Amino acid sequence: MPESSTQDSLKKGLIPQVRHAIPVASGKGGVGKSTVSANLAVALAKQGATVGLMDADVYGPSIPTIFGVTAKPQQTAGRVLPVEAHGVKLISMGFFVPANEAVIWRGPMLHKMVNDFLSIVDWGGLDYLIVDLPPGTGDIQLSLCQTIPVTGAVIVSTPQDVAWNVAQKAIMMFDKLNAPIIGVIENMTGEVFGKGGARNAAARLEIPFLGEIPLAKALRESADKGTPIVAADPASEVAKTFFTIARNLAAETARVRERKDAKAFPAKISPAGAERVEIEWSDGRKSSYDPRELRLACPCAACVDEVTGQRQLKIEWLKPDTRASSITPVGRYALHIAWSDGHNTGLYGFDYLRKLG
Ligand code: ADP
Repeated sequence: MPESSTQDSLKKGLIPQVRHAIPVASGKGGVGKSTVSANLAVALAKQGATVGLMDADVYGPSIPTIFGVTAKPQQTAGRVLPVEAHGVKLISMGFFVPANEAVIWRGPMLHKMVNDFLSIVDWGGLDYLIVDLPPGTGDIQLSLCQTIPVTGAVIVSTPQDVAWNVAQKAIMMFDKLNAPIIGVIENMTGEVFGKGGARNAAARLEIPFLGEIPLAKALRESADKGTPIVAADPASEVAKTFFTIARNLAAETARVRERKDAKAFPAKISPAGAERVEIEWSDGRKSSYDPRELRLACPCAACVDEVTGQRQLKIEWLKPDTRASSITPVGRYALHIAWSDGHNTGLYGFDYLRKLG
């Protein structure tokens, strides 16, 4: 099928049948993205939704292992039927490639795989198509998400995962796609990795926090044995956290479209280097900031202590001629401001800016 007609069939064929395509992303590997995707999919299904799970983590497709599936998907009349396990329709590159075979994927091949997964796979009607993305926030993730018409994304992070920077990168990636972040999930919360890092990062950008999952041996063990814990032991404390997160996810997904329209955004921003940073908001409000005070108010992890919330910076350390050297909107969340002192890791949430102004 030529590329354009694949695209057309996608738009015509897939979108009406899938209410919400939700990619699950993480800044780096090993944070439990696949484990979370799997258990979340089962939890949504147990709560009555029709759920598909597409394993797009081509570098380490672990969904077949977590679900204990070894059978290959059936094919009829040029269509591939997803494998059903624990109430979820599954498709994974792992079904087609032998486990010990390394796959070297380049951009165009990935694109084709995603296209095939969407156009040839017979998903039927779905409330949710959860997409387990490869780790990272590079071009590959970007192109995967460009092929899928996403409702919004979910970000998985560990508490200690330099949470702010990871969330920020992922948010910037989805911003390029004009896709909202449905919410952030903190995984492996507990004594080993700490608690609250991802929750705090989400709070600073006023992105919904969907919940936290403890570091739990049983979770890994059940995944290794081929049954997600939500199916193996639905009454366990860990499974309960997934049911709560699934409910939060459903609620946030339902309101994500109104959320993006409801928020005031900067309609006009003063040029870089100006003596004051001035913003004219879409609702007519005007805010004006002294560049030094705004620099001082930078909410990034380098400027605010994660634990105590204390500012690391003092106004007298800033040169009187401190200026914004660039101001770039990041979707409907924030302005990314780089400063004349070289500092450039601050994302200023719109709500935060409006409070400051
Ligand atoms: P990713 O998809 O982000 O690379 P995985 O989901 O494959 O990560 O998880 C990596 C490893 O960590 C797996 O062995 C998994 O069972 C384990 N794991 C994930 N989340 C937890 C948790 N909350 N508690 C204990 N082990 C976990």
